[in-house]
Amino acid sequence: MFYHKNILILIHIIIFKHAVDVCHTSYRLMMLAQLNTVTTGGSGAMTSLEILSLLIAALGHDVEHPAVNNGLLIKSKHALAFQHNDKSPLENMHCVVLYETLSTTVDHTWNGKKVETNIFINFTESQWRDARKVILFSILGTDMAHHFDQVKKTQLFNELQSEKIFHYYSGDSHTIECLTGTGKTEFENRLFIIELLLHCSDISNPFKPFDICEKWAHLVVAEFFAQGDKERELGFDRNTTNLYNIQLGFIEFIVAPLISTVIHIFPPLYSIGENMNNNFILWGDKRIEEIPIDSKLSTMTPENKQLEIGKIQDRVKKFKEKMQFLETCKSKTNEAAINKKNKKPKISSMEISNFTLNYTI
Ligand SMILES: [Zn+2]
Repeated sequence: MFYHKNILILIHIIIFKHAVDVCHTSYRLMMLAQLNTVTTGGSGAMTSLEILSLLIAALGHDVEHPAVNNGLLIKSKHALAFQHNDKSPLENMHCVVLYETLSTTVDHTWNGKKVETNIFINFTESQWRDARKVILFSILGTDMAHHFDQVKKTQLFNELQSEKIFHYYSGDSHTIECLTGTGKTEFENRLFIIELLLHCSDISNPFKPFDICEKWAHLVVAEFFAQGDKERELGFDRNTTNLYNIQLGFIEFIVAPLISTVIHIFPPLYSIGENMNNNFILWGDKRIEEIPIDSKLSTMTPENKQLEIGKIQDRVKKFKEKMQFLETCKSKTNEAAINKKNKKPKISSMEISNFTLNYTI
């Protein structure tokens, strides 16, 4: 155990909230990209089993997270790293714990009532196997070690498929052909998109409205600092940096390359790009306001502080220029929606029942 009992309780509460947030975000991304729709003549972009599996994976993707990352587990020779031979020890553990919870056949007494945790109990063998494939694949895909590979795969998928996918939004096709169907390629494409939806949701703070983005940013940085303290205790030092700089770097170098490509593939997601752009500008403004009074920069001359401000202004300007493609995505999406309406395709919308939306992303 890395933390004191009371800190662990707090961490578990935050992880629970994160799980609900990631589940909700996966659902919202799927809905905004219209991947849940079904045609009257066949299966949809994602099957109902896959939708359910994605939401369960999202809820369980960080279960029993110890609030330290894989790097520290491996460096400190933790039992989890040994159990999984240093390969995604956390994500492997989340899958194990999730399946232990989901698959138990023993009733638990809770609140005087018996609770069955095996929600897959009525699945056929093949449904169980298919759900497991999606859940394991998508949870293992949340290891940040795969992030840059996922960016490359997403860019390739964009080059190969985005034009054809747009036919679906404009009503020229009733299905997203590369995703719909029972073929091996379509299944692998769906698996990739599901993995992407979960991974994007897991790092979604930067593309939420700023009040939500800001709250999560503070929680995530507090976790980094807590882990930094543990690393020092274990003899590993870490330079803790400024909250605003962390957010600017996280958006610019990690989140934006992936999310921009995802929006190119699914243009109706342009609104998350608008949030991300807005958040980048706001973090930049905060850093610019802070530089003249930042105690860590007390030895810096006023001229050098002005240079620092200039660098941030330049980054924000370049970021805004890169995000200009969102305007095209927005107008294309709106035009496509009008075209689709005029064509009146035989499409019915399948809503997941009783899933309330509290905010928009
Ligand atoms: Zn997570």
